[in-house]
Amino acid sequence: MSNDKEVKYLKFKSRKSLAFDESDEFLSRFKESFIKSINGLFIFADREKDLVIFYGNNKGIIGFHDDFIVMSFKECMEYIHPDFIDILINGIKCNLEEIEIKIINLNGQEVWISIKGQGEKGSLQRFEGYVHNITKEKEASLKLEYMSYYDELTGLINRKRFKEIIDEELRAHTLVESRGALIIIDIDNFKFVNDSYGHIYGDLFLKRFSEDLKKILESNSNICRFGGDEFLVFLPDIEDIKEIEDIVTKIVNILKEPYSINGKKIFSTVSIGVSVFPDDAEDFEGLLKNSDASMYMAKSNGKNQWQMFNSNISREINRIYSIQKGLRTTLENNEMYVVFQPKVRLTDDEVDGFEALLRWKNEEMGFVSPAEFIPIAESTRLIIPIGKFVLREVFAKIKYLLSEGYDNFKIAVNLSEIQLREGDLVTYFNSLIEEFQVSPKYIEIEITESMIMKSVDRNIRYLLEIKELGASIALDDFGTGYSSLNHLTKLPIDVLKIDRSFVVDMTQNDKSRFIVENIIQLSHKLGITVVAEGVEEKEQVDYLKSIECDTVQGYYYSRPEHFENVITMLSK
Ligand code: C2E
Ligand code: CA
Ligand code: CA
Repeated sequence: MSNDKEVKYLKFKSRKSLAFDESDEFLSRFKESFIKSINGLFIFADREKDLVIFYGNNKGIIGFHDDFIVMSFKECMEYIHPDFIDILINGIKCNLEEIEIKIINLNGQEVWISIKGQGEKGSLQRFEGYVHNITKEKEASLKLEYMSYYDELTGLINRKRFKEIIDEELRAHTLVESRGALIIIDIDNFKFVNDSYGHIYGDLFLKRFSEDLKKILESNSNICRFGGDEFLVFLPDIEDIKEIEDIVTKIVNILKEPYSINGKKIFSTVSIGVSVFPDDAEDFEGLLKNSDASMYMAKSNGKNQWQMFNSNISREINRIYSIQKGLRTTLENNEMYVVFQPKVRLTDDEVDGFEALLRWKNEEMGFVSPAEFIPIAESTRLIIPIGKFVLREVFAKIKYLLSEGYDNFKIAVNLSEIQLREGDLVTYFNSLIEEFQVSPKYIEIEITESMIMKSVDRNIRYLLEIKELGASIALDDFGTGYSSLNHLTKLPIDVLKIDRSFVVDMTQNDKSRFIVENIIQLSHKLGITVVAEGVEEKEQVDYLKSIECDTVQGYYYSRPEHFENVITMLSK
């Protein structure tokens, strides 16, 4: 190739003497113009004379050593990259200010050039202008373009590119009336991986996972890193739901075995949501929303599983969205209030305190149970202002009770893990103590084991801080979840609340009875007071009395009530 070009080069040299005449008018114009071309190459073309003249940095662009090169039109065109011939011709015809094309230089390398100039009235008859080598800039901008389409960490396409591809696919699917599935994959507890091993391990984990994903799908164009730990996959041309099941099961199985990264074994799982085109939605946004909703359900059903979209999910998700929306304005609309359920001391049947329980009545949805809205308030962190509202209410009630001469009571408040972890709880506590001028010894904080387990050492530290202020701590729902007796010795608790499920079971089931008895005995040995929750029948009360349970709480004595209704039950 280069030899061939050398020959042409010689040929051009010889033509030069033929075509030039010092007095030529176009030569003098050329001289004037080339001065302007710095670093670049001046180009002058005349169709009638079949001449293209290059003067200037020939070496850096076309590759000739000579500053001055003349060639014919046909020869000149041979240097233009075939993909760009039309672009060049049209550019000149349309009188574009700048034309960017690729040429193939004397050494056979591709070079990006920019041509600025003008044809005579946009014709191809005459053209004069400058050529610059823009390879560096062009490559940089192509890299930028790459970056705007690809995820740097995994090399997968990003969400922008993915949407473009899927929009296109969906259009094609509509034409041939075939089905496709959009799969959303979310790594469970990925934050935990990052928090406990560091971001470098987190990144390696994601890289490894995306490699495994590619292996399963045999194609990269339909896999996307959608965000931090979320991936999207589109399966085209689905004929049978089994095809989806097969793939999704394989994806869930990727993390069946832990990843071993730099000698550390990292366990994780994935939650997956799937929606099908066109059955569940007909556009990308709709599919994404439904897959996301399904993934959310997979998570709330215990993670490490996949979930196909169905109409129940959309109903549930709509409910969740309504609750989220309602919660955002609930405090300013004064929709929340606190009710109080008495706790009865079994030694003398006296009420010695209450548990504060949150209530929400929304204009559109009516009453919403805390069991339903608290988890949503937690996931949106709205539990922090809402939790503050409850605490404030409780301080106000304590102040009132003290002013009425009651002194022998405690009010228990439920705390959420988010409040413990992210709120300025101790600071807020102190500000309430200051504001109401009451001692926190009238407050009991209810926490659950699962709450503590999320970060044992740190949460115990927080609890100790609260305890130091003077409040007492109760372990709620004991018997559900972890229920480790080991915790009784490790956690700084004053009170243990046996869960309702045990109390219900106790009178029929010998095993439950045995457990409850022993929990009470053990707790007493550790100086922990025991409360039984959800007591509804006299039989249960009698039995709990016989095994020396300290306190009971339940509908048998009273439901949670407005403060005015329970205040009189309190003993002075
Ligand atoms: P929990 O802390 O276990 O509260 C006890 C739940 O059992 C309350 O339901 C109460 O009304 C109910 N209960 C009490 N006695 C009986 C009984 O004899 N029989 C039956 N069937 N149920 C009884 P509620 O008020 O619906 O609260 C549900 C959960 O919501 C609470 O469970 C607690 O985890 C959470 N919660 C309530 N208020 C708050 C709050 O202010 N902050 C936080 N973080 N969570 C709260
Ligand atoms: Ca509770
Ligand atoms: Ca409870």
